[in-house]
Amino acid sequence: MEEREQKKKIKKPRGVARLIPGKCIACGALCQESCPKDAIEMNDQGEPIIIVENCIGCAKCVKVCPTEALEMYLTPEEQRLLDELAKQAGAKAVAEVEEVVEEEAGVAARLKEYKGVWVFVEQTDGKPATVSWELLGVGADLSKTLGVDLCTVVIGDKMEDLCQESFAYGASKAYLMDDPLFHHYRTEPYYRAICQLVDKYKPEIMLLGATGLGRDLAGAVATELKTGLTADCTGLTIDDKRYLLQTRPAFGGNIMATILTERTRPQMATVRPHVMPMPEKDTSRKGEIISESLAIKEEDIAVKVLEVIDDRKHGAEAVDVAAADVIVSGGRGMHAKENFSMLERLADELGGVVGSSRGAVEAGWMPVERQVGQTGKTVRPKIYIACGISGAIQHLVGMQDSDVIIAINRDKQAPIFEVATYGIVGDVLQVVPAITNRIKELRAQKSVSTM
Ligand SMILES: Cc1cc2nc3c(=O)[nH]c(=O)nc-3n(C[C@H](O)[C@H](O)[C@H](O)COP(=O)(O)OP(=O)(O)OC[C@H]3O[C@@H](n4cnc5c(N)ncnc54)[C@H](O)[C@@H]3O)c2cc1C
Repeated sequence: MEEREQKKKIKKPRGVARLIPGKCIACGALCQESCPKDAIEMNDQGEPIIIVENCIGCAKCVKVCPTEALEMYLTPEEQRLLDELAKQAGAKAVAEVEEVVEEEAGVAARLKEYKGVWVFVEQTDGKPATVSWELLGVGADLSKTLGVDLCTVVIGDKMEDLCQESFAYGASKAYLMDDPLFHHYRTEPYYRAICQLVDKYKPEIMLLGATGLGRDLAGAVATELKTGLTADCTGLTIDDKRYLLQTRPAFGGNIMATILTERTRPQMATVRPHVMPMPEKDTSRKGEIISESLAIKEEDIAVKVLEVIDDRKHGAEAVDVAAADVIVSGGRGMHAKENFSMLERLADELGGVVGSSRGAVEAGWMPVERQVGQTGKTVRPKIYIACGISGAIQHLVGMQDSDVIIAINRDKQAPIFEVATYGIVGDVLQVVPAITNRIKELRAQKSVSTM
């Protein structure tokens, strides 16, 4: 109780008023009138006498005096209190700094325990998602910069082949959780398996594909491990402090944000399919498989898979724009749904598929599955032909890594030309049929000359 009293906050002294000799002009007791505490009496010469015990240090009299004949000063007792306060503040500041230094040292030591770049190998019925191999490509750059192992996490049922395949794409180790319980993806056993591996082997970076499964799993793992997760990264590099720089579009794609996970590990990121280039496959590469098991029984898992329903679309919607080598994309500049048939003809000639901007999707001319861009598919074809597409940033982020970009637009200022390898300024409704006819002519000439 006594100690608590001692620790009671000392009020900061405000000082008391006093008269500066020779400056008062006996103005008529303005100071006395302003005092809220009757702390001023006037002497026979009309000068103020300050009653120190009553003065609360409000300084109203000082402010009201027309000749600045009053000032505030600290009594010896107040000066002592002020010195005491300064001492206390200094000691508190030192203690706070010490606490921060200690905490930071703890964080740094904890982070140092984490080593290695991990890639989660996504599979369905044993068929790997190609994004996993793309992640091994960027993972190889990261692990080389950090001087650590590039590893995969393979979870499923009879998955040894997939571990070997991950070595062919550059991994040197595979952490394998092989159990019939993992046959179908379910969030709980999968995230628990990964968290168990992370707790034991402590990777500093973990990458997953930004697919439906990858997004679900990454979120659950990051939540359980209380670490940072950056979704849909378009760039991953390492800075000079070993932090993973995770770059992704932000604010509707208008800026690129670089995000760091500074105080927790692993640093987790997801990347959409086709954003990173595919690494070369070399089946002669070998690696080490580290098998682990999860102490979980089927009865412990609330979710049961009763039936798997294939939701892949058929007909026009079955086209996988993201996997195509040639894409002829149409935007609002196509003016009508019927005009997309000329894009189909050009795509057929080139062995490609038709894609679209969101503008064309919103106009109801193309299904959403064909949309390229930030909220559509990310594509990386050999040839991307943008027809009547302005080149909004949200479209560009989905196609700007194409090998060759050909833009057709009647507005020569259209932003699409900034990323285009070749640009044609003209009416798309005339240019596209002209190109298609020319290709047909060249093909016909070629077949005649080879006859
Ligand atoms: C959060 C968010 C996410 C988004 N995600 C996406 C996305 O994933 N994908 C996407 O595409 N957009 C996306 N958008 C929309 C994007 O901002 C643009 O509005 C959209 O890309 C515009 O589509 P467009 O280029 O077809 O249409 P417009 O911008 O209207 O451009 C039409 C172009 O056609 C040209 N043109 C017109 N007539 C002709 C002609 N006869 N011949 C030649 N050229 C002609 C015009 O000069 C113009 O440049 C997103 C927006 C937001 C806010």
